Amino acid sequence: MARYTGPVCRQCRRAGDKLFLKGERCFTPKCGVEKRRKPPGAQPTRRRRVSEWGTQLREKQKARQTYGVLERQFRNYFGTARKTPGVTGTNLLQLLERRLDNVTYRVGFADSRAQARQRVLHGHFTVNGRKVNIPSYRVKTGEVVAWKPASKVKAFAEDVAKSVGQRILPGWIEIDKTAMQATILRNPEAEDIDSRVDTRMIVEFYSR
Ligand code: SF4
Repeated sequence: MARYTGPVCRQCRRAGDKLFLKGERCFTPKCGVEKRRKPPGAQPTRRRRVSEWGTQLREKQKARQTYGVLERQFRNYFGTARKTPGVTGTNLLQLLERRLDNVTYRVGFADSRAQARQRVLHGHFTVNGRKVNIPSYRVKTGEVVAWKPASKVKAFAEDVAKSVGQRILPGWIEIDKTAMQATILRNPEAEDIDSRVDTRMIVEFYSR
């Protein structure tokens, strides 16, 4: 399945919730969900009840679209989460959080996960001093994510410095604002992840 390239606000309106896919805009009144609460497309003449399966599917799609992951990749993450000891839902979120594109977004090196993904693909970051251009790269405890020296002087460097200053950091990452590098302190715990996704529904969805 190809990557979704349509209007991203449509995905939020379909989910009926903010997925924060557009950076700054998501916090302004211009947000698609704020402006139009209704789902996209033709409106049904009468309200239909969403089935249990439909609710579970919607929750799964919400998580998948939030992290910008394709269907098969997401199923693979779920498979790994299920095999890992602990709570499957938390394991799943941990795997998604530890993606390199998500880490760079969380620390403010990019405005949105889509932008983070593009910056990783363009080779702007290093992990422990080595260039990594794979957005799904899973960071490990103790690893240091930093800008490539040449990328620090690019036109967007000033905006990045500003957004790093404003970002509330999750407890599992430490950032050195001067050196513009982030250190992974530990695995993210359930309370570190500000997810709006009900993972229980996702587990039920895949357990059918
Ligand atoms: Fe979703 Fe952001 Fe668009 Fe609002 S502005 S609908 S949160 S992507």
